[in-house]
Amino acid sequence: MFESLSDRLGSVFDRLTKQGALSEADVIAALREVRTALLEADVSLPVARDFIKRVQDKATGSAVTKSITPGQMVVKIVHDELIRVLAGDEPADALKIDNPPAAILMVGLQGSGKTTTTAKLAKRLKDRNGKRVLLASLDTNRPAAMEQLAILAGQVGVDSLPIVKGETAVQIARRAKTQAAMGGYDVLFLDTAGRLHIDEVLMDEVQAVRDIAQPRETLLVVDGLTGQDAVNVAAEFDGKVGISGVVLTRMDGDGRGGAALSMRAVTGKPIRFVGLGEKMDALETFEAERVAGRILGMGDIVALVERAQETFEAEQAERMARRFSKGLFNMNDLKGQLEQMQKMGGMQGLMGMLPGMGKMAKQAEDAGFDDRMLRRQVALINSMTKKERANPDLLAASRKKRIAAGAGLEVSELNRLLKQHKQMAEMMKKMGKGGGMKQAIKQMM
Ligand code: GDP
Repeated sequence: MFESLSDRLGSVFDRLTKQGALSEADVIAALREVRTALLEADVSLPVARDFIKRVQDKATGSAVTKSITPGQMVVKIVHDELIRVLAGDEPADALKIDNPPAAILMVGLQGSGKTTTTAKLAKRLKDRNGKRVLLASLDTNRPAAMEQLAILAGQVGVDSLPIVKGETAVQIARRAKTQAAMGGYDVLFLDTAGRLHIDEVLMDEVQAVRDIAQPRETLLVVDGLTGQDAVNVAAEFDGKVGISGVVLTRMDGDGRGGAALSMRAVTGKPIRFVGLGEKMDALETFEAERVAGRILGMGDIVALVERAQETFEAEQAERMARRFSKGLFNMNDLKGQLEQMQKMGGMQGLMGMLPGMGKMAKQAEDAGFDDRMLRRQVALINSMTKKERANPDLLAASRKKRIAAGAGLEVSELNRLLKQHKQMAEMMKKMGKGGGMKQAIKQMM
């Protein structure tokens, strides 16, 4: 997600934050580069223009250029503006599924990932919220699509409405509603037929189904790789059938991410979830702060802890999250992290999420910072005593020599590990205090 945009902005802001004093002309020049980066990421022109204008208004006053760290002030203004453009004024809350059975209408073009997303959402509601979920496919034109939904339902362990040949979409919707009510289901997903393009027949059918189903949510699934097209499709669907939110799929690809940035501003509708792969758990809620942090390469502690939750024992993950939020991060924590790294998609995947390490990932790879290094670092920590691990400040020269020798390594390597630990602990502390990115940025200034 957003890799190239993130790289581009990263280099603009690197220069900006390294400069001590900033003139208005410096800021304007930097913002021109930001604008180009946004356009290259396929953000729509009016949105990019408005974005830059808002940032410029806030960033060119003397409060910024005369401040002690003007570069960081500008980054913060961009960060806040990213959140605004991603989230709008009110938060995208959780799916409305009170008053069971709550119907959720899934709409979108063929191939957008609608069926896959339906199954992913069903799995999420079942696993995380303990909901009983029923899936029904209304794609009467494509028997294969109906079967696919039934297969995916089986895979994620929820029920699907038995397929009856010859019914219309409206008839299926009626039967599904009755079945959901009688069967005591909490949530009913109606996976409507997709078409290759928006056409009247499709819209009429979706409207008729909507009137029968009275959905609590109408979620539009769009392919994030299609950039501005995705935004246009959303605007059209919203105009014709009314949507309550958007799911952007294929955000795992090297797409330029512009759809995510333009969606809210153009359609007024929130992005509720993003699809990050073909697997059934490759779905994340869309949180503006987190995404803004990612775009600016500030790491993503929330995703880190969430990913850990899937890998670790839940209890262990909770303990970790609690410790981090208190700013506690000792050698045992670091060791735990290093050992989990391999399980959690290797160095590259993980470093992008660790605060401050995103940009280092590439350099690190060149410097041979790979899985072998991970093992060496774990060996160093293993060679420390319990007390030393709990309190790395104890490590005077003699202890360092002993530890390095114990692991068969140089003291310089231990020093590098200690430095890394210190940086991470500091970042954790900032993330923990008062919660989140926004705060962390404030504290850096
Ligand atoms: P539908 O025609 O809209 O129902 O689309 P499908 O759900 O059948 O999805 C079409 C293809 O896209 C399938 O091969 C899915 O596995 C794939 N797909 C769906 N969502 C994602 C995603 O978030 N990332 C990736 N990489 N592939 C996805």
